[in-house]
Amino acid sequence: MADSLDEDCDYLFKAVLTGDSGVGKSNLLSRFSKNEFRFDSRPTIGVEFAYRNIKVADKLVKTQIWDTAGQERFRAITSSYYRGALGALLVYDITRVATFDNIKKWLRELREFGNPEMVIILVGNKCDLHQSREVQEEEARHLAELENLFFMETSAKDNLNVEEAFLEMVRRIHAIASQKTL
Ligand code: GDP
Repeated sequence: MADSLDEDCDYLFKAVLTGDSGVGKSNLLSRFSKNEFRFDSRPTIGVEFAYRNIKVADKLVKTQIWDTAGQERFRAITSSYYRGALGALLVYDITRVATFDNIKKWLRELREFGNPEMVIILVGNKCDLHQSREVQEEEARHLAELENLFFMETSAKDNLNVEEAFLEMVRRIHAIASQKTL
């Protein structure tokens, strides 16, 4: 899955995807890294990652994005998954309220094992399925404000806001990193 790029880059960032199983994490990643969508669930178990190079303010930022690849089903995610990550997409499924209720649990894990300055984007995925919506946008926006997260609804299926969510995360990480290197 990883298509590592050899070009010289100004920054290399690690970011992770978290959230319940089935919310669309691997499809968000394959949409962002390869512009692909799968109707079936992921076929494999094991950590996966993908790279993408992004230009931010004239700098080339290489972002390595890790996907849980099904391990969250077995509560098998360890601290090494989060180690060194500067950003996270914390994903729930707008059609399953239980996945939204678990956001606080995932947030605790991110804050316990992740970098204290980690940029966290709260992502309500599957917004194409608005007829089956169980989580209102306002409710999620409220949580995001309380927890100081950036919030966005996405559809990996319809390719809606996927690029924007990842790019927002990378831009925010870059802003923090470039302040430190001034
Ligand atoms: P993960 O376990 O969080 O990595 O979830 P997957 O990416 O494997 O997706 C789980 C299921 O949800 C698959 O059947 C996908 O096709 C479906 N899915 C993922 N994203 C979307 C989306 O934006 N809209 C719709 N309708 N289905 C989606």
